[in-house]
This record gives sequence, structure tokens and C-alpha cells, in this order.
Amino acid sequence: MDSLQLTPEPSSSDTFDVVIAGCGPTGAMLAAELRLHDVRVLVLEKETEPTSFVRIVGLHIRSLELMAMRGLLERVLERGRKRPPGAYFAAIDKPAPAGLDSAYAYLLGIPQPVIVDLLEQHATAQGAQVRRGCAVTGLDQDDDGVTVRLADGGQLRSRYLVGCDGARSTVRKLLGVGFPGEPARTETLMGEMEMRAPREEITAAAAEIRKTDPRFVVGPFGEGVYRVIIPAAGVSDRAEPPVLTDFTHQLRAIAGTDFGAHSPRWLSRFGDATRLAERYRVGRVLLAGDAAHIHPPIGGQGLNLGVHDAVNLGWKLAAQVRGWAPERLLDTYHAERHPVAEEVLDNTRAQTELLSTGPGPRAARRLLTELMNFDEVNRYLLEKITGIGVRYDFGEGPDLLGRRLPDVAVGQGHVYGLLHRGRGLLLDRTERLTVGGWSDRVDHLADRTADLDVPCVLLRPDGHVAWIGDDQRDLDDHLARWFGEPAD
Ligand SMILES: Cc1cc2nc3c(=O)[nH]c(=O)nc-3n(C[C@H](O)[C@H](O)[C@H](O)COP(=O)(O)OP(=O)(O)OC[C@H]3O[C@@H](n4cnc5c(N)ncnc54)[C@H](O)[C@@H]3O)c2cc1C
Repeated sequence: MDSLQLTPEPSSSDTFDVVIAGCGPTGAMLAAELRLHDVRVLVLEKETEPTSFVRIVGLHIRSLELMAMRGLLERVLERGRKRPPGAYFAAIDKPAPAGLDSAYAYLLGIPQPVIVDLLEQHATAQGAQVRRGCAVTGLDQDDDGVTVRLADGGQLRSRYLVGCDGARSTVRKLLGVGFPGEPARTETLMGEMEMRAPREEITAAAAEIRKTDPRFVVGPFGEGVYRVIIPAAGVSDRAEPPVLTDFTHQLRAIAGTDFGAHSPRWLSRFGDATRLAERYRVGRVLLAGDAAHIHPPIGGQGLNLGVHDAVNLGWKLAAQVRGWAPERLLDTYHAERHPVAEEVLDNTRAQTELLSTGPGPRAARRLLTELMNFDEVNRYLLEKITGIGVRYDFGEGPDLLGRRLPDVAVGQGHVYGLLHRGRGLLLDRTERLTVGGWSDRVDHLADRTADLDVPCVLLRPDGHVAWIGDDQRDLDDHLARWFGEPAD
């Protein structure tokens, strides 16, 4: 991939360092991450109002950890509901394995519009600008930056552009980046509506059908209101949301009754298309979130994955803008995140099979249900879905190298409390190392009581372990690898 200039470039007040297309969860999180480093960010969002379309979203363990790392956890918890992280894989009903290595070992049920609202507020509070009703329609890049063309005929200049503009990403299409994978084979209807039939009748019928078709969900969701998730009659190419008769027709076809469904609150549909962008970066333009990867929402991973992309990319792009990025640091974004998305796509493919109703998939599901009685298997799958099992390839080293560090106890508090500013951190039990000329980018906590079973770790701003050891020279090499040249 192209490597970029390492020196800060001249800027003027009418240009931005980074323009982000799309103010969904990925774009909003990325804007906030960039603002931690004083990068001038503009988010362009084509919709004039935030969407009220409720996707059933839970924040998984790694996302909750990231919220804690940025001081956002309390705000998120206030607006969500904690649940044990059971039934996470192909909806197989198993409790979470015991003793998960995280202080945040739960699922937080929280609607997507609430998350987007929180993240957007967080980004703007940090100084990001968000312009609504402003769609990106074109782009040209040269050696110095990107010209971003807008639907109203205007244009903007920025040094980098990030397409966080969702599954149908205009930015990805403008770049001509391939998006190989499988088209939707099935579609699911999802919505909330009132039902006239007695509650006991509805829940008993739904439970009976689920014995043979785990994709059928009709469950109470407040007074007289039910959340309905059922297979659609076929794959539709309509962009508009479905109508109530699509639901009543399918309920009658599957359950023999529509339970007197009426007065929908909202209705939507989603497919199981599975695709992954070939490249996450083309010169000065990058892709993140659904713009880079799509897959069925089984296991509730898409939003989480996009937020994790944003936290991986934010500090690297900021380093590039601020001029201290080591050569190729920005390329590690693709190198690290593309394989993670590849794995998520694969686990959703596997879950889709396990949820289908043929005798083969049902036998495989029974077998996996038995296998998940083994704590190791259960833990492996949970760590996959929740993002805490991710290990980036930083080369040879102990198992912790490349993994995220849990929120271990240090001094009077916990390590995530030291990562709010999005800087690197040397956690040093030897109390004799130094971050020297990197102290403008990397903090240092010398604490022999830190709850680590290694002498020292160097954490990147995204909380992943970049180095383990106790030797100053080796540390300096790794500081240079991740944080560039030391200041004079
Ligand atoms: C039914 C359903 C349930 C789901 N449940 C979960 C779950 O439980 N957990 C989970 O993690 N994920 C879940 N997902 C997936 C999750 O909704 C997506 O992965 C997530 O929205 C991706 O965020 P994003 O910011 O990358 O993209 P989006 O949320 O799609 O945001 C993209 C934004 O870009 C804007 N935009 C588009 N084009 C342009 C343009 N040209 N210029 C400017 N702006 C533009 C759009 O208006 C939008 O606001 C679910 C999805 C569905 C469909």
C-alpha cells in the first residue's frame, strides 16, 4: 500500500485534517478518537436527522472495555440494561463460561440510536464538527490531500477521508475497492407491533415453533407490544422498509395465525449478505465499519466491529496527521483489522448454517450444543463474538503480546482509567524504565504493585499490548516501532 509523507503538512482554517463520511457509530467513534489528538475533524452525514430505526443492539465485552478506556462507560450504562452474555452463539442457550477475564463480563442491551447519540455527543463535546444533510458524492485525491465533493454541489478539502458511510458506502464505490462475498440468500423481517391474541397463547406458540425453527422469535416487549423477528417470504430488492402485511402473511404461513398483529411501532428487514472490502486503504482514503464489511447480524457483532475499527484507526491516523507516525503505521490498520473482520464474517456464516432448519444443520447444532458444555469451547466462542479474543500479529512473543490488556488493578485504581486521553502507556513493575523522548505521546506508570504477571507492558492507545519485557534498549526499539522518532 502507499506510504505517506511523515512531516506535518501546511494547513489553513478552511481545510480539515480528516473528513469522515457518515455519522453512524463508526464515524462518531472515529471522530472522537481523532479529537483526542487535536486533529481537526468534520463528519458529513447525509441524513438531516439521526435515525430512529431500532436495531437490536448489545454492546459486547470489548466495546464496554473501550468505553471504560475512554471514560464513557457510566454514560453508556445509564442508558442500557446489563444482561449475562449467554445464548450468544447461534442463539444456543448456554450460560457464559465461568471466570471470564474481564471486569465487564456482560452484554449491555442498548438500542443503536442511543449509542449513536451518545457517541456523537461525545465527539462534538471533544470539538468534532458534524454537518447533517450533507452527502458525499465524489472524491479526488492527490499527493497533498483529498477533495471531497458534496451532493449540494459544494466541495471540501481535507488531508484524509474516511468512509464510515455504511454497507452501501459511496466512498468504497468511488474508490473502486472490490467488495467480494456472497449476496443475500435469505431475509428476515423484524419489527415491533401490538397483538390481540392472549400473551400465553403467543409465547406458547412461539416456543413450539422455535423447537424446529430457531429463526422464529415473537416475544413480549412491553405492555401488549411484541418484538417479531421471522423469516421473510424471499429476498427483496426494495430499499423501503416492509409493511405490516409482509409480517401477518409470514406469521400465518409459519404459525398458522397472525396473532391479531396491528399498530406497528417500526418495521424493517435485513439480509444475510456477507462481504469484505479488499482494501481498507487507498492512499489518503480509508474505510471503516459496515463500509468495509457486512454480514448477518447474528451474534450482534457489526456495530461492535465498527467501533473497534475506529479505535484501531483513530490514533494511527492522528499520528499521521501530527507527523510522528512511523512509516507504515497507517498500513497496520488494514493488516490488523481485515483479518478480524474475515473471522467475524466466517463465524456469522457458521452461525447462519447452525440456524437453518435442514436435518444436517440441526444435527450440527445438537453436536455444538453438547460441545459447548466444555468450558474451553464455550469460552473460545464467547471470546470470538465479544472481541476479547482478538490477537494482532506483532511477531513472536508471549501469548499476551498483541492481545488487549484487561482492566488490571494499578495503584489506587485500574489501568483503563489511565487511557482516557488515548495515549500510549508504559506499565512498569520494575520502576526503572523510562519513556524518554516519547513522553509527549506515551505515559509512564512505575508501579511494582500493578496486577501483571510480567515485568512491564507497553500499551498502544487502543489498549493492545505492543511490548512485554524489562530491557530499556528493547523498549526503545518498540517505542520507535509504534510511536516514531523520539522528540529531541
Ligand atoms: C437488524 C439488525 C440488527 C443488528 N444488531 C446488531 C447488534 O446487536 N450488535 C451489533 O454490533 N451490530 C448489530 N447490527 C449491525 C449494526 O447495525 C451495523 O454494523 C452498524 O450500524 C454499522 O455502523 P456504521 O457506522 O459502520 O454504519 P451505519 O450505521 O450504516 O452508518 C453509516 C452512516 O453513513 C451515512 N451515509 C451513508 N452514505 C453517506 C454519504 N454518501 N455521505 C454522508 N453520509 C452517508 C448514513 O446515513 C449513516 O448514518 C445489526 C444490524 C441489523 C440490520
